[in-house]
Amino acid sequence: MPELPEMENYRLMLSDRIAGAQITGTEVTREASVHMTAEQFEEALAGKTVWFIERRGKHLLFHLDNGKRLLLHLMLGGSMFFGTDEQKPDRTVQVTIKFTSGNLYFIGLRLGYLKHMSVKEVDKELASLGPDPFDKRLTLERFVSRFAKKRGTLKAALVDQHAISGIGNCYADEIAFAASVRPDTKITAIGDDTWARLYDSMHRVLTEAQARGGYMEMPFTAEDHLTGGFNGNEKVYDRAGLPCIQCGTAIEQIEVSSRKAFLCPSCQKDQ
Ligand SMILES: [Zn+2]
Repeated sequence: MPELPEMENYRLMLSDRIAGAQITGTEVTREASVHMTAEQFEEALAGKTVWFIERRGKHLLFHLDNGKRLLLHLMLGGSMFFGTDEQKPDRTVQVTIKFTSGNLYFIGLRLGYLKHMSVKEVDKELASLGPDPFDKRLTLERFVSRFAKKRGTLKAALVDQHAISGIGNCYADEIAFAASVRPDTKITAIGDDTWARLYDSMHRVLTEAQARGGYMEMPFTAEDHLTGGFNGNEKVYDRAGLPCIQCGTAIEQIEVSSRKAFLCPSCQKDQ
């Protein structure tokens, strides 16, 4: 599932292509993905201009010129492509939003959705979302306080969108590795120094992944060579049995709070 770096990568590329552009039409082949009929979706969007695109955690919000929003969550398996019918990958498209400069295709929207909403409805839907890791108001002190009442493991806490938004399975493991703490460490056992390292690691890991284009495999356009640049740069995630890049010890896969997690048992010993 795309996380903060992947969605931020999408946001930047979308902004380059469709901020200020008018929607000329839509196509919906799976109405469940837009929570309305294809006719209603067309009626709601055709002729509207996308002012800008905002990211909230793993969601993107397309701001329309009539004050309405399109709320996107790609969930597991969702992705986007921008271009022409000839350029688009040979995959089933559930939703197409057309612009003069090209079409925006939504692919693999099974659990993912694109909802046309009022500002009020968006605020209600995202009310319980925790702050963004890069929110200036999220100081180290506030970061730690987001987890103060938790009793579970570090992994469960980092992927909890109500605590901090935007981190998922991959980057939670990468952040724990960068902070040299095990993902199955109990929140209550984590000391001040480790919290400080986790806070710094969160920013460093997410910034680096985003700068490299994140881990989505499918390019966003025919000319896009940035997307997916982080693939293969994970230090622990999905590397079970492979040598740790820091110490050579085999990376372990464990189960934490019914999620899989990857770690180096030699490098991740701090609490
Ligand atoms: Zn190691």
